[in-house]
Amino acid sequence: MNDSASRVAGDAAGRPLLEVRGLEKHFVVKRTFFGRPLTTLRAVDGVDFAVQRGETLGIVGESGCGKTTLGRTVIKLYEPDAGSIVFDGVDLSPLSFEEMRPFRRRLQMIFQDPYASLNPRMTVADIITEGVREELAAEERKALAEKMLGVVGLNDDHANRYPHEFSGGQRQRIGIARALAMEPELIICDEPISALDVSIQAQVVNMLEELQGELGLTLVFIAHDLSMVKHISTRIAVMYLGKIVEVGESYDLFERPYHPYTKALLSAMPIPDPNLARDSRRIILRGDVPSPTRIPTGCRFRSRCPYAMPVCGEEEPQFRRVAANRFAACHLVDGVPMEASVASDSLFHSDSVSS
Ligand code: SF4
Repeated sequence: MNDSASRVAGDAAGRPLLEVRGLEKHFVVKRTFFGRPLTTLRAVDGVDFAVQRGETLGIVGESGCGKTTLGRTVIKLYEPDAGSIVFDGVDLSPLSFEEMRPFRRRLQMIFQDPYASLNPRMTVADIITEGVREELAAEERKALAEKMLGVVGLNDDHANRYPHEFSGGQRQRIGIARALAMEPELIICDEPISALDVSIQAQVVNMLEELQGELGLTLVFIAHDLSMVKHISTRIAVMYLGKIVEVGESYDLFERPYHPYTKALLSAMPIPDPNLARDSRRIILRGDVPSPTRIPTGCRFRSRCPYAMPVCGEEEPQFRRVAANRFAACHLVDGVPMEASVASDSLFHSDSVSS
């Protein structure tokens, strides 16, 4: 069976394109005089999720919750400390830099800051084709750069210019063109719009959505702006202090949040209709997000949760199925028994997303 046939066979069997289990990425921020770890920052602290081919998984949470570290660890810009990252049936976590080479094309990332992520000394054409520099002749690279500029709505004559000649939105388009030039299957979009003017954000999100449909891409869309995530995502995972606390289909999660943290995030979203806004109730969370170097025992949200109970300090709530296509980790939420055959599906991928 050739490569693409086996991929299709895997999809037909319902295998996710990406399956992350027990992923951890910790950083030692302080050591003893003898070099032993003294303070460890648990940025990603046991994350599980799966993404089906062709879907968009939104990952939301406040600044510092570990979203960006998660994205970077999934594509192995950071080496994971524990867990597996199974991409198209292959566990990437133990692979060396060299062994990762065939996968780098297939897994791309769009970075948050379009000002810092483009080399100011390179022309746009060189930036876009940097990843295929060794494979293509100069003429082919030029043609590819011009084609990709067209795909992201820029002109051919932008190819020989430098990043400083472009606006933030245009630079982000160049970053997207660079990712697309590699013909990826999965793109991690790390807050791709947060550095852009509000007027430009919707344009970039709409463009990503269109490209996803046209090119059959799979996206992981990391953001703190819930309204944008709702717009683009098939499903949403809510992250708090290095862990995912709730997963659900996008519109269902907005309609019916289970986890108190999700409820608080949703209640803080601006409501455009003044009548609805007047009747809405905002949940004010106590205090700040604890430091990832001092994660509370039991439920990590308990220091801010308005519903915290004694058990919340004693036992970490299990992440479990709470309704069809819905998963949450909270002692308040009753779990729904799962068939043994669906237990392996408990990595929170939708029953309804087709492969
Ligand atoms: Fe709140 Fe307890 Fe649920 Fe954690 S487990 S979210 S502290 S009610």
